[in-house]
Amino acid sequence: MDFRVGFGYDSHRFAPDRPLVLGGVHIPFEQGLAAHSDGDVLIHALCDALLGAAALKDIGTHFPDTDGAFEGIDSTLLLARVVELLHKKGWRVNNIDCTLILEQPKMKPYIDEMTQQLSRLLDLDPDRCSIKAKTNEKMGFTGHGEGIAATVVASIIQ
Ligand code: MG
Repeated sequence: MDFRVGFGYDSHRFAPDRPLVLGGVHIPFEQGLAAHSDGDVLIHALCDALLGAAALKDIGTHFPDTDGAFEGIDSTLLLARVVELLHKKGWRVNNIDCTLILEQPKMKPYIDEMTQQLSRLLDLDPDRCSIKAKTNEKMGFTGHGEGIAATVVASIIQ
């Protein structure tokens, strides 16, 4: 058995008149995240963790923001493509552990739905799919409410 671990990080700035989409879930809030895609910072960090585990470079290599095809794209489609890339190399996802860092909005009401979304997209048992959220104690860009950051650790096996 081969077993690998990958780490992903992403951050996006808040912007007005944008939807807020995290973990494939639309969250009602006064602002969304500025991005070429739908700005789903959690899925972007997850894609990088999975690609990193398989040494398949990064999300920007596979889905460049200079390519109009990805403008406003639903990030769940990017994740599906990443999973396909892993499958082609014989990998399957073993578990993920995600952390969102933001002051607002509160994530607690959405964690279960995000877990369902990601476990479905990864064909993973929900008890192998961990999503957590925390504030940054009002420090730094996340603490000042300028944007949202996400970190993900993922393991893959074959
Ligand atoms: Mg991103």
